[in-house]
Amino acid sequence: MNDWNQILSDSDAACVERYCEAFAASHGRRPGFYIRTFGCQQNEADSEKLAGIAVSLGYVCTEDPEKAELILFNTCAVREHAELKALSLTGQLKHLKAANPDLIVGICGCMVSQEHRLNDIKNKYPYVDLLFGTASPEKLPSYLAAILKSGRRGFYPDADYRIAEGLPIRRESRFKAWVSIMYGCNNFCTYCVVPYVRGRERSRRREDILEEVRGLIAAGCREITLLGQNVNSYGHGLYEDYGFAELLEDICRIPGDCWIRFMTSHPKDVSPKLIDVIAAHSGEDSRPKIVKQFHLPLQSGSSRVLKAMNRRYDRETYLSRIAALREAIPDIALSTDVIVGFPTETDADFADTLSLLEEVRFDAFFSFLYSPRRGTPAAGMEQVPESVKAARFAALLETQNRISFEKNQSYLGRIERVLVEGTSKTDEALLTGRNEKNRLVHFKGDGSLIGQFAFVRILSADTYCLTGELSDGPSAIKEDKLCRSHR
Ligand code: SAM
Ligand code: SF4
Repeated sequence: MNDWNQILSDSDAACVERYCEAFAASHGRRPGFYIRTFGCQQNEADSEKLAGIAVSLGYVCTEDPEKAELILFNTCAVREHAELKALSLTGQLKHLKAANPDLIVGICGCMVSQEHRLNDIKNKYPYVDLLFGTASPEKLPSYLAAILKSGRRGFYPDADYRIAEGLPIRRESRFKAWVSIMYGCNNFCTYCVVPYVRGRERSRRREDILEEVRGLIAAGCREITLLGQNVNSYGHGLYEDYGFAELLEDICRIPGDCWIRFMTSHPKDVSPKLIDVIAAHSGEDSRPKIVKQFHLPLQSGSSRVLKAMNRRYDRETYLSRIAALREAIPDIALSTDVIVGFPTETDADFADTLSLLEEVRFDAFFSFLYSPRRGTPAAGMEQVPESVKAARFAALLETQNRISFEKNQSYLGRIERVLVEGTSKTDEALLTGRNEKNRLVHFKGDGSLIGQFAFVRILSADTYCLTGELSDGPSAIKEDKLCRSHR
């Protein structure tokens, strides 16, 4: 484990701090730091650490890359589209570098953890000063110090995957927080680049996680999402008799009005104990409350394709996990990920996926066109033509959109507890938030509600969101339940 306090007192950190002081003295402002994040929640959490480190060194965060002396792109490699987008935006940084001699341009994260991409960027983008992967965000001070001292570019392929504790974090939200509980992945699904770019699975010590959660709840945080590529296998290799279910139980012992979410779960590791813990701590009076929402990636409804994906469960096992969750928590909301057009997927395999969607009736899903990833086994398998993939993708979307629309109608007239997140992107007069089942809810209300829980009576529902009006609190909910039980 690396200790941040030791790193901070290190001469590299002191060197960057001195640079920031000198810059402020000569420019009348502190140097700016701009970060752009691509990809998943784990990357967002990593970016919050990088931003925390930059601020602790003396940079100020800016939303405007033109006002930055340090620009970082934290990239994704899960699909080619994400890589191409990051590369195209990197191209646009050339003119900023030309205009600002103080600017340091850095590209980091999953894309850079791939050797071929690191070399590509190094050779084709001479104005990129700094390249580093996912392994060691805590080394940012020494990377910057090396550039400031030598004036030369720095390239740092991932070397060691130890966990650094105590890093400063600059959180994007004051009431919603990501808490990484583990890093890396051991599963090696044949389509996936994650184990290659994020290393082997490693869990944080429970006391470090609990301390972070305790601090967040004490500071009034209303929603905490526990993050990991496979949270269900938390603790493997670290503890004998302590896993994700036990960690959740410990978190639920910290009193506070906060929702606890987690992602992502792997179907092969959903244990009866985990289901029991969720059932025990997701009741209306639970504080904190594990949300009644479970994201369980399916990837394919065909057992043959699941085997080719190395998912280590079949259609029946997946369905049995869903049945067990619904038996213990009847009103749990379920969401999933599906990959369309995995190599060798036939019409019959795809029909199995469609039929599983009809059988389970997920509340929401994320669907992805299969994207071949260099170095993964599936990239070398027989590919499905793009036109076939596109047609299947459209059919999948049509099926799930219909189901989501139908399921959302069941909210009509109900009173939902909503965590208010901000104003609506499409209508500034509306506030927007999510209920515990992660449904988007719009309603009219005062901006002072942002960051608070509010009760909203649902008046209309479409495929992607619910719209309603502010309502009375729990008594209205109780009355509403009473009415429904007498219907
Ligand atoms: N660890 C999680 C899991 O097992 O589901 C999430 C990992 S991944 C970042 C998120 C989703 O991206 C996966 O569930 C999968 O559906 C999708 N994905 C991963 N590799 C992909 C690929 N090569 N092409 C298309 N989708 C992919
Ligand atoms: Fe990728 Fe599979 Fe690991 Fe998820 S479980 S990160 S899909 S290898």
